[in-house]
Amino acid sequence: MRVFIAVAVSAAFIALVGALSAVAPRAQAPIYDLVITNGRIVDGTGSPWYRGDLAVRGDTIARIAPRIDAPAARVIDAGGKVVAPGFIDLHTHARRGIFQVPTADNYVRQGVTTLMEGPDGSSPLPIKPFLERLAATPVTPNFGLFVGQGSVRDEVIGPINRKATPDEIEKMRALVRQGMEDGAFGLSSGLFYVPGTFTPTAEVIELAKVAGRMGGIYISHMRDETSGVLDSVRETIEIGEKGGLPTQVTHHKVIGKANWGKSVETLKLIDEARRRGVDATIDQYPYTASSTSIQAALLPSWALEGGREAVLKRLQTPSMRAELRKETARIILEERGGGDPNNVQLARCDWDASLDGKRLGDVTKGRGLEPTVENAAETALWIVDKGGCAGIFHAIGEDDLQRILRHPATMIGSDGEIPIFGTANPHPRSYGTFVRVLGRYVRDLHVITLEDAVRKMSAFPAQRIGLADRGVLRQGMRADVAIFDPNTVRDLATFERPHQYAEGVTHVIVNGLVAFEDGKMTAARPGRILYGPARQP
Ligand SMILES: [Zn+2]
Repeated sequence: MRVFIAVAVSAAFIALVGALSAVAPRAQAPIYDLVITNGRIVDGTGSPWYRGDLAVRGDTIARIAPRIDAPAARVIDAGGKVVAPGFIDLHTHARRGIFQVPTADNYVRQGVTTLMEGPDGSSPLPIKPFLERLAATPVTPNFGLFVGQGSVRDEVIGPINRKATPDEIEKMRALVRQGMEDGAFGLSSGLFYVPGTFTPTAEVIELAKVAGRMGGIYISHMRDETSGVLDSVRETIEIGEKGGLPTQVTHHKVIGKANWGKSVETLKLIDEARRRGVDATIDQYPYTASSTSIQAALLPSWALEGGREAVLKRLQTPSMRAELRKETARIILEERGGGDPNNVQLARCDWDASLDGKRLGDVTKGRGLEPTVENAAETALWIVDKGGCAGIFHAIGEDDLQRILRHPATMIGSDGEIPIFGTANPHPRSYGTFVRVLGRYVRDLHVITLEDAVRKMSAFPAQRIGLADRGVLRQGMRADVAIFDPNTVRDLATFERPHQYAEGVTHVIVNGLVAFEDGKMTAARPGRILYGPARQP
């Protein structure tokens, strides 16, 4: 029988018990704050699961052993379920949501205990005020940041298509250095977006060198994930190689039917780079649709130069609007549009919430137009005119998804956000990424093993950003733990009904405190700010 004493005891009683403990160990005060018994421990390293008990003291894993009988303030019987490290998500857009929903239910209910922000070249700048605001807000998950190359360039040059002067490059280097000293884990880029798209490779390398010298990594939403995806992977590798730092293709995918299958070649490029010593890795979300703004996805980048005023001016110039309509129609046919206006879904339109969740073809019809590609392109321009929407783009092949998932250098990252439950029609990745891998791709389709999936969600991302004390279940590590039933774990969120929480995760522990159990978030807010390797306190 296990001992369970959670009540305060008098000093005299403790002394008495101490004296008797050799003969009456059951009456001892708790040695551990929490013991998880009867677990199948998947430790994060990729090693096969093993049976064991795990004890926590404070925020730390104090012991793992076949059986732990010492008294504990709290015992959780895992009942043969999987006990894994809390999952670490290197690519999130959680920085708005974390203040509105500090419990980050959509993530924590999947077993995610650490969120990294500042991806795609977009971060707060400077990052310090954001981190201070976060430090003053009790939140559930741990939280860290990258500094964004796009934000840095926007600050120094603006959303303009031109080369930087030597003086401007110096200013940008200083901003990256500042970001690293404030606690960033590296440099992110979004070379697909404005203003990242206006950046020559050599300029990114100059900034990557700064982050690299300070111990950071480079993580990139690449310039082109469609017909130019191979060149983009080459560029990402080159930036790592010449910048002298680890480099990561983030949310790796191949967009547009005509390009499906190219992951065979992109993965070869990664393998070749790794063979010659370039530390190149990948992350991915397990869906065949992407999500970003309608304007970034369906308009060419030249149309977006100069900010909203300039974009509206172009839309109001008839000759330019005609040219844009043609280019947008081509993008719908060959790239993000997936060849059919109804492969484009509106996720969130702040100016008309009734459009949330609707398909572009249907919206076109609703405006009294035949849902042709041409007319859908016109509707897309109308949407940008009105203020833009977030969109979902069904244009990724399942074969590429599975091939990338199987690659040993691929980890899992959601690219999601913290939605307000029931509001808008966000991509389901925010609610389902991690459990979808465990349910669909491990249990149902056998694409990867359970141990490998957990590795891709814990030890691998932890090692990537240098979190030496998280991501593995081992004595001395911080106690971030997810307990789930491998037979029932699954995602329920769909593109039609995204606001549905994960199933099958029973307990989530962050820094030693239980944050989720019995289907409910607890009152605990144990999340901490995580700082990168060059932080100057
Ligand atoms: Zn991205």
